[in-house]
Formats: sequence, C-alpha cells, structure tokens
Amino acid sequence: MKFYSTRGKDTVNSAAEAIVKGLSSDGGLFVPETFPDFSDKLENMLSMEYYERANYILSAFMPEYGDELKVKCKAAYDKFENSEPAPVVKVDDNFYITELFHGPTLAFKDVALTLLPFLLKKGSTVCGIKEDILVLVATSGDTGKAALEGFKNADGNKIMVFYPTGGVSDMQKLQMSTQEGENVNVVSVVGNFDDCQSTVKKIFSDEKFAEDLKKKGYRLSSANSINFGRLAPQITYYFSSYCDLVSSGEISMGDKVDFVVPTGNFGNILAGYYAKKMGLPIDKLVCASNRNNVLTEFFASGKYDKNREFYKTTSPSMDILISSNLERLVFEVSDRNCDLTAKRMEELKNTGVYEVSKTELNKMAETFYADFADEEECKETIAEVFDENGYLMDPHTAVAVSVYKKYKSYTGSNKPVVVLSTASPYKFGQAVSEALFGKKIKDAFIAAEKISEQSAVPIPENILSLKNKPIRFNKSIDKADAEDEVLNFINK
Ligand SMILES: *Cc1c(COP(=O)(O)O)cnc(C)c1O
Repeated sequence: MKFYSTRGKDTVNSAAEAIVKGLSSDGGLFVPETFPDFSDKLENMLSMEYYERANYILSAFMPEYGDELKVKCKAAYDKFENSEPAPVVKVDDNFYITELFHGPTLAFKDVALTLLPFLLKKGSTVCGIKEDILVLVATSGDTGKAALEGFKNADGNKIMVFYPTGGVSDMQKLQMSTQEGENVNVVSVVGNFDDCQSTVKKIFSDEKFAEDLKKKGYRLSSANSINFGRLAPQITYYFSSYCDLVSSGEISMGDKVDFVVPTGNFGNILAGYYAKKMGLPIDKLVCASNRNNVLTEFFASGKYDKNREFYKTTSPSMDILISSNLERLVFEVSDRNCDLTAKRMEELKNTGVYEVSKTELNKMAETFYADFADEEECKETIAEVFDENGYLMDPHTAVAVSVYKKYKSYTGSNKPVVVLSTASPYKFGQAVSEALFGKKIKDAFIAAEKISEQSAVPIPENILSLKNKPIRFNKSIDKADAEDEVLNFINK
C-alpha cells in the first residue's frame, strides 16, 4: 500500500517505508492511500484473540510484513496481563471502560510500543537499510518509558528519550531514570513537552546532522505517534472493544457506540477515526482534554490557537499545546488537500494559529465532540466514580470520564459509550490519593499503598520493583545542547 505525506511532497510505496522514515521529508505525516473496509469482517473477528485481531487489521495495511507479523503480535501481546491488552469493564449501564494499561509500563502506549521495534527492524530489512537505527523520543511521560522498554537491548537499535524537567509524575520519572539496557539514554530538557517535541523535530530536519550520523553508521527514526507504526496498532483496540461488547451480548452487531478518549497529541483518538473510516460502527468520538484545552476550542470554533498559557496538571501526558496528529485529521477533512494542509502547518509554525472552513468544521462535527475537565472536576470524578461504582482510575482516565458525564447530560442519550482508560492509577498515586483522601500523600509509594488498602486493587509489580532500582539517568539539559548529547551517546 502507498503512503502519502499530508503535505504532498513525499510518497512511499509501503507501510514499511513510512514506518522506517517516521516523518516524511517535507515535514508532513504519512497517511495510507486508502482505508481497507472491514465492515463485513467484524463477524470473523468475534472469535479471535486480541493478537489475531491485531494481525488481521495490520496486515491489511502492511502485507510486506508477511506471516511473521502474526508471530510478533502474539509475542508483543503476551507481555500484557493475561495476554489481553484491552479488557472491557462494565462500570454502569451502557458505560464501559477499556483498560489499556495492563502492559509492561502501565500505560496505553505499550499497545503500540511492544510491537514497534519489530515493525521498524523488519521494515529496515524490507527497505534494504544497512545502518543501525537511533530512535529519538520526545515524551510527556508515558511514551518514553514504553519506548525504552520496547527497544531496550534490541539488536541494531539505540534509543534516546527527552522528557520535560519537572513535567512528569514522580513515578514516571522513576520509571525512566532507572531504565535498564545497554543501548538506552534518557535526559530531561528544561521546558515543557512542546519544547521536547520541537527539539526532536529540529534534529530530524537537520540534514547535516543526519549525514554525520550516517557516517557513524546510524539512521534516525521516531517512536512518537507521528509514526504510522505507532498509530496502526492502536486501531485494533477500537475493533476489539466493539467485538467484545457484541460477544458478551451487551450490544448487537451493527449497533453504534461512542468512544471517549483522553487526548494530548491526538494519536489515540485518531486511531478511532481511522477505525470508523474502516467501517467500525462508531457514532461519535469524544475528544477529552484537561485544562490545556486547545482542542476543545478548535472543535468549537475551527480555529487552532496555541498562543495561550501552558498549565501543568495532574494528567501530564495530556499537557500539550501542539497536537501533532491533528494534521492527519485536518488533511482528511480538507478532502486530502495537501497544499492547503502544508499552508496551515506553515501558519501554525509561524504564528501559532490556523483555521479551517465552516464546511470542514461541520464535517468534523459529524464525528467529533470535544470538551474538557479542569483539575477540580478531575479530582471529583475520581472520588465519585470510586464511591458510586467502586471503580478506581487515574487522572487521565478521569478527565475522560468527567467529559463523558457532561456529554451524556448534553445529549440525554443512553447510547453505549466506551471510555478508553490510558494509565494505571498507580502511575499517578499522589494525585489519586489527593482525590480519594482529600490530602496529597507526598511519597509516591506510600500513596500507592494507601490507595491499594482502600480499593483492594493490587499494586502492579512493575511499580513495586522501582523502589529498589538504582538511578541511572538524571541529567537535565538545555534545548540547545540536544544534538551534542545525541552525539555523546552515539560515541560512547
Ligand atoms: C499519551 C497519553 C495520553 C494522550 O494520548 P495521545 O495519543 O497523545 O492523544 C493520554 N493518557 C495517557 C496516560 C497517556 O500516556
């Protein structure tokens, strides 16, 4: 299958090539030529296990990965509790939560990042690339750890992660600073996530730097959700959630459901949009933001304006003002007008603002609904849902559930709704303890113990084991020193 750049100046002939390149050479994002129609394949998927569903969907986009794909899907998803990356929990009537956090690093990023090392490696082979791959990752907390786990000690790979100094939870920081593996490096960058993201993007667009790396036998690649290899595996859990609801008799085949998605870089929810285009009976996709509500405003007005105050919240993985993957949606609703998309992204870069037309806005409104929850609402929702439904959740999921409740009272409908839960509550123990007990417990491990006593939800082993691991990485750098830091790492 061909992949086009959203900005029109780069076309590649396979998913493998799009995945290996990561970002297209004109700065745009790769999108598939078509969306394969799965509307008459849902029946087939009902009896499949998760890894089979993943293989079924992914092979439609990437036939060049052959039979090995299925084997690697199985290996990736065996790393999840019960080999089940997306169990659906019924919280209340017509209110379901798909828990995407039972993987090695306890956040939904694992669903794609357990598979991405294979997609990249095999992709390189398919494309005849000889250099080793250096993966650079900008993270608001969860991608970094999930990518480090996925790539640690992987043959022919090095990985380096940039996270915002002071911009992640204690547990997220500890997860990254204690990372094991010979081929990994982690630094924090003074600034916020957008600074990390622009630092990495800048390195990617520095041709001279790429030349230098090539001489040393390396080639850059990205594990961020701008990479199609990150996006594609995320399509599966929308299908899987739907199939599970049909199988358990909660809905009938063909019934429409809504998904509510806690959103930052727009990767998770975009996979839902792709699932809908592939024929999954999704009615609305609800885009839930925290106080950094640039997307809420965009879906209301058609104007994207990143010139606003940046807030640090208790859902740090959503503290983002530039949602990179939105470019793919804007491309689709402009009827794939690449010149217009390129112009808008140029405006975004230069002025921080761009606007879509009324027609495009209406088209988006057919599928998307957007709202946000502030810190107080997020806390209240954690406490309320625990008290009323006995369900414990993390602040990112709580943002989505809070928006779900507003959405439900706005529509007055009783349609089945699935909220995607993106992280374990124990990754954000202090914030959860404050919501449950009215006071913040300063130590992340004590907070976890108290929450576990109260909720009877066990603390995951991958949290408990962090306590005794040595800190390997605690360097904080200035943006301007990022390239030097990469070279030092390579030369080691
Ligand atoms: C990354 C992340 C999000 C946001 O997902 P996007 O794909 O960036 O929109 C939400 N919640 C958690 C816990 C995350 O790690």
